[in-house]
Amino acid sequence: MNLPGEFSVGPEFRETLRTGARRAHETGEVDAASLDALRRSGLLGMMVSTDHGGWGWDAAAANTVIEGIAADNPSIAIMLYLHCAVVVRIEKFGTEEQKKNWLPRVARRGQLVASAWSEPGSSADKRSLSTKAQRDATGAWQIKGGKTFSTSVTVADFFIVLVQLPTTHETAHAAEPTYGGSDQALFLVDADASGVHVPPTPLDMSGMRGSGTGMVQFQDVTVADRDMLCSGSATTEAIQLPHQLGLTLGAVSVGLAQAARDTALGHARNRGLLEDERFQRQLALTEVAVRSARAAVSELTAGPAHDRVLRAYCAKVSTSTTSQTVCGTVRGFLGSSGYLHAHEINRISQDADAVMHMGPPTHLCLDLIATRLSSSRPSAA
Ligand SMILES: Cc1cc2nc3c(=O)[nH]c(=O)nc-3n(C[C@H](O)[C@H](O)[C@H](O)COP(=O)(O)OP(=O)(O)OC[C@H]3O[C@@H](n4cnc5c(N)ncnc54)[C@H](O)[C@@H]3O)c2cc1C
Repeated sequence: MNLPGEFSVGPEFRETLRTGARRAHETGEVDAASLDALRRSGLLGMMVSTDHGGWGWDAAAANTVIEGIAADNPSIAIMLYLHCAVVVRIEKFGTEEQKKNWLPRVARRGQLVASAWSEPGSSADKRSLSTKAQRDATGAWQIKGGKTFSTSVTVADFFIVLVQLPTTHETAHAAEPTYGGSDQALFLVDADASGVHVPPTPLDMSGMRGSGTGMVQFQDVTVADRDMLCSGSATTEAIQLPHQLGLTLGAVSVGLAQAARDTALGHARNRGLLEDERFQRQLALTEVAVRSARAAVSELTAGPAHDRVLRAYCAKVSTSTTSQTVCGTVRGFLGSSGYLHAHEINRISQDADAVMHMGPPTHLCLDLIATRLSSSRPSAA
């Protein structure tokens, strides 16, 4: 890996993640050794600025690390991706006081942050939320509501919570699809704040079973005004900031596609099929797919900034579809041995499917791409 600084994903770290991925897929819990290795690696602070104790890495470097981790332990990779997506939001939208309070906790103490945005019954675009924040008589905020599918929630030290504010002016949702709604805000909330309840058991998902993805209840949680990260149109900008920077879940899909391809190679080696022409053709196909997906991710940060958000939605769809296709090709090649429950390819395939459902899921990406394309069409003179 060509990364800034001295960091390298060493063999011991990789082995911890690999073993942990297998264990977590069986137990459905976050693997303690993998999480501990992640916290100790310093990677949670990789996108924190050096002023606040981090490494100051950009999205290109972060994508590279996230891809590498995803090849070994995709659950840990999505935890790291979502964590970094919060870090960049604090860096961009936080006040100096907020940065001083939250970022050194991440960079120096290895604290992990989770995004609590999705709700039972709310759609992927997050335009209608039932979690509300109201000001109380002291000027602080009271947050009330429930969130679900929050990655890392069972082990996180703090949360970024998306809430609906009381409507301050005449607002109507735009007719076209958006990511986020009107009068919403993001708050930073400690996991041990009074009124925060996290069921200890994660959701029993098919894939990403080691990601601690679960639910959280906010029962009249009091949050100081200083812990509101942003509100109004800044919230919409904050939601799409990772896409604007080129930080992408596509990196996880590339790592998964690489892992599936490596599984096929291992199988061919064990069975003495390396010289078999049919295998070589299948391997070539997967190689093309993995490299194209990686190129789509690299191009996000290397290419121009003006249409990066559009390209990020395209890359999310194309890379997640590619990783699913590669898994399908490899499963076909493995035959019935790959159909055994314990075979790695089954975990990898289920993890690959999960990325498609993660925000923004494929159907929302397609709507957002369509909206951007139609608004950029030259008007008929
Ligand atoms: C592994 C995993 C990790 C996650 N981590 C987090 C997290 O950390 N934080 C968080 O807040 N959320 C998280 N989520 C939730 C995720 O962000 C989704 O937004 C959420 O699951 C809702 O998406 P949905 O597609 O189910 O919802 P819906 O929008 O309700 O869509 C449901 C289905 O309806 C259909 N549909 C809906 N609208 C359309 C349309 N316009 N066109 C075509 N079909 C449509 C599609 O088939 C779609 O799959 C996670 C989800 C997963 C699976």
